Amino acid sequence: MTSVPRIVVLSAPSGGGKTTIAKALRERYPGQFGFSVSATTRKPRAGERDGVDYRFWKPTQFRDGVNQGQFLEHAQYGGELYGTLRSDVEKILESGRHVLLDIEVNGAAQVRKLDQNALTVFILPSDPRVLVQRLVGRGSESREEIRQRLERAIEEISEATLFHRWIRNDGLDQAVQAVLKASDQPVRFVRDPKDLPWMKQYLVDLENERHRL
Ligand code: ADP
Ligand code: 5GP
Repeated sequence: MTSVPRIVVLSAPSGGGKTTIAKALRERYPGQFGFSVSATTRKPRAGERDGVDYRFWKPTQFRDGVNQGQFLEHAQYGGELYGTLRSDVEKILESGRHVLLDIEVNGAAQVRKLDQNALTVFILPSDPRVLVQRLVGRGSESREEIRQRLERAIEEISEATLFHRWIRNDGLDQAVQAVLKASDQPVRFVRDPKDLPWMKQYLVDLENERHRL
């Protein structure tokens, strides 16, 4: 690693690929990236393990954690609570590695406010139809949940301007390399001239896709 260890926030609308990219980064570069395992009140999905994918907490335990100041940030998503534990983040930074947070946009805003050295990355496949296909193809949500997640996706994409980097998740290797490189560079806002028109059109096209479902 060439830079001081930092928080690297990966946000994306559901299906954007943040979980896949975070997993690839920590598997391919275990000496450079650790992953903070969030606490959540939502139920585990098939194959998810407590303490590995999430810490599955009861709402009372989560609220106690909030009151005791255990969370660096926390937010609500889909009627459930999600939060990043300070202890996890500190442990990984102390080990000399960047810490990856796979969190939604409100959590990302809290981290940005707390830590000027944190890098925030917004991830999307170039084509909104691919976003929908991946979300549907993952097979972990019902049609109704997918509709709700797309509605939330439109809200989240509207917040993308607050993120330092927009990284397109078309080919996985390319996306992983882009996050790797950005993590070791000074934190700054980087935009390609084509990015803003692309994002504006994205919102229009995704809204159409949502109505088609
Ligand atoms: P998120 O965590 O942002 O909701 P996931 O990482 O679960 O998204 O990705 C959504 C789906 O898209 C998953 O089935 C995943 O395997 C697939 N996927 C992610 N990135 C790519 C990629 N670059 N190419 C093809 N499929 C991908
Ligand atoms: P899922 O239920 O699909 O695993 O996650 C739903 C959303 O919650 C995703 O956008 C994910 O990034 C976000 N999320 C997961 N953990 C946290 C967390 O600790 N804090 C916040 N703010 N969001 C989280």
